[in-house]
Amino acid sequence: MNSAIRIHQYGGPEVLSLDSVSVGEPSEGQVRLRHSAIGLNFIDVYQRTGLYPVGSFPQTLGMEGAGVIEALGPGVEGFRVGDRVGYAMALGSYCHDRLIEADKLVKLPDGIEDQTAAAMLLQGMTARYLLKNSYPVQAGDTILVMAAAGGVGTLLTQWANHLGVTVIGCVGSPEKARLAQEQGCHHTILYTQEDVATRVRDITGGEGVAAVYDSVGQATLHASLDSLRPTGTLVSFGNASGPINDFNVGLLAQKGSLYLQRPTLATYVRNRELLDGCANDLFQVVQSGAVKVKIGQAYPLAKVAQAHRELEARKTIGATVLLP
Ligand code: NDP
Repeated sequence: MNSAIRIHQYGGPEVLSLDSVSVGEPSEGQVRLRHSAIGLNFIDVYQRTGLYPVGSFPQTLGMEGAGVIEALGPGVEGFRVGDRVGYAMALGSYCHDRLIEADKLVKLPDGIEDQTAAAMLLQGMTARYLLKNSYPVQAGDTILVMAAAGGVGTLLTQWANHLGVTVIGCVGSPEKARLAQEQGCHHTILYTQEDVATRVRDITGGEGVAAVYDSVGQATLHASLDSLRPTGTLVSFGNASGPINDFNVGLLAQKGSLYLQRPTLATYVRNRELLDGCANDLFQVVQSGAVKVKIGQAYPLAKVAQAHRELEARKTIGATVLLP
């Protein structure tokens, strides 16, 4: 038998239930994977609460992990038993062993440890598509990053720096401001206390930023729009403070012919070619030392409810891993 953290209904951290489940044998296209580390992401909270529905109950939560292949199902090509692999965006990672489609896996190169992979694959591939696809940054641009001391935020900040971009980071506390500066934020704004758009105008000489990468959602929407230069881009990629349900498209015209995108990583890793391209780019930038993965905290898998509480209470920094 295998331990898994499942939900039987939507709700608070208390619905995370430690269950014994049988894993079974991999079917066509699947492998059986033994996790050595599991990534915690804010999407896990949305799935626990039902903001992003998970389909049916009971459901093992978690989207990201790393480990070793223990068995191959029929028709799996390109992988062997014993390979070290990782994945992001495959529901069901909060467990020791799982079955997973081989299509979702990437092999981990030497030099990328399992914990690092579990901490960075989802958030790092997100940083990559945000900077290269959503609004492709140019050296010399100034951008605004919300939740700059968080998992995605620390990777996005470092990677943007590497590309020659000036980064303004919004953070929730002075301690997070120090961390964000260490990660390469040129300027930080305490968005819980300061007026963001006013600070951004001061920093940019009145111009505004080329792009805002906003994962906070409802609470920061207007500050983000007001911080953009004419024809700037708002990439609204998360809902940590709640979803944006009503949006007046006319605001984009009023505030300077702005662009708005609401992307998801799933689109940018939807086939083998895209997944490998995205993962390899991330591996390279980490192996080169240009981007360092900040694991701010680790919890035993059985303590996942505590990890959710701290993530939602804005107490975490950088990435979080769960250890099976
Ligand atoms: P983080 O580590 O960034 O944690 C979330 C952070 O958001 C908090 O630490 C906090 O930082 C900030 N925050 C602001 N308001 C709130 C609030 N009301 N409640 C809780 N947190 C708040 O998480 P992740 O790196 O896992 O994810 C960051 C965001 O990116 C999430 O919104 C996530 O959904 C999104 N995301 C989207 C993807 C996509 O493809 N669309 C893929 C991956 C992530 P502070 O205290 O500094 O404000």
